[in-house]
Amino acid sequence: MSPTELHIQPTVSHHKDRPFLVAGPCSAESEEQVHRTVRELVEHTKVDVIRAGVWKPRTRPGSFEGIGTPALKWLDDARKAFGIPLATEVANAEHVEWALKHDIEYLWLGARTTVNPFYVQEIADALRGTDRKVWVKNPLHPDIGLWIGALERINRAGIQDMAAVHRGFFAYESKPYRNEPKWEISLEMRRLAPSLPILCDPSHIAGTPALIGEVSQTALDLNMDGLMIESHWNPKGALSDAQQQVTPGELGRIMSHLVLRSSSSTDALFLSKLKQLRERIDEIDSELIDVLAKRIRVVEELGAFKKEKNVAVFQLDRWFEILETRKDWGEDQNLYRELVEELFKLIHKYSIRTQTDMTHRVDEEAHS
Ligand code: PEP
Ligand code: MN
Repeated sequence: MSPTELHIQPTVSHHKDRPFLVAGPCSAESEEQVHRTVRELVEHTKVDVIRAGVWKPRTRPGSFEGIGTPALKWLDDARKAFGIPLATEVANAEHVEWALKHDIEYLWLGARTTVNPFYVQEIADALRGTDRKVWVKNPLHPDIGLWIGALERINRAGIQDMAAVHRGFFAYESKPYRNEPKWEISLEMRRLAPSLPILCDPSHIAGTPALIGEVSQTALDLNMDGLMIESHWNPKGALSDAQQQVTPGELGRIMSHLVLRSSSSTDALFLSKLKQLRERIDEIDSELIDVLAKRIRVVEELGAFKKEKNVAVFQLDRWFEILETRKDWGEDQNLYRELVEELFKLIHKYSIRTQTDMTHRVDEEAHS
């Protein structure tokens, strides 16, 4: 993927001493629920933006699909009462029109919208000529191209105050999370669009209050630029995402435990230690490459030998044995089993490729 050229002037960023915080209920449910939740958020946290869904994209029909336009008035009232700007999700041009009518400052595209370029373009067209601030959540599945494409479409409509929102990715096996974090995708987004702020939505990653603190801390440690966390004065009674919302009091406690580390330091001692450690890593990485090259040379020898004896390149039993033994060896060294598994799948993929390339070459030479 090549870097993207976004013409942006983003305003989202942390405060000196605390993270940029977007908080509020998954959905606006009633005038009282909105008012009470915002009141308690203001009491317990330093919330920067109030979030609430008005139109809820639900996976199954029959679930609560949001109150719709009447909820915009409740949000507007809460903003008047507490002076905090608002954010809501828009999923089509009509939603944008309504949100503009109520002067909602921040609009976000949800994970189910980012996957669909038709909807994204419709929203971009409806936003053209406005000065809204727009956030784009990652698509449901880990396709960074779709995520960037959505950001580009919005940006090309003239929207400059933008941010991406990392809310994790659907996976059949995402335990212990509701959505797999796949942090590497946001790091790649950072590489491709360095000036774009990235907010993290720990609520939809965690899916449970117990993990929201640690997911938030990881996001901050990875230099993400803010947090979006679902909070409801009475989570158990919530009409959507009841299992993951926290009370404003709980959110206040979570926030008080988070540490905002500086992304760089000018301390000379720190910098020299950092340099030393990086040099050691450079050395180890160069050794890793040497070892990989050594392995490939043996694989080539093996390939030639198999070819000579007319034996198939891929031997299932041997592959299973490699995978299992390496995972055990890794575990003995306190490495994640998944790390060793992924690493050896990759190494094996290229071992096979080396051998098949060799075989084809030999075959071609024999036929020429
Ligand atoms: C939400 O923020 O409530 C929501 C529906 O999020 P997502 O699009 O990330 O699923
Ligand atoms: Mn939600």
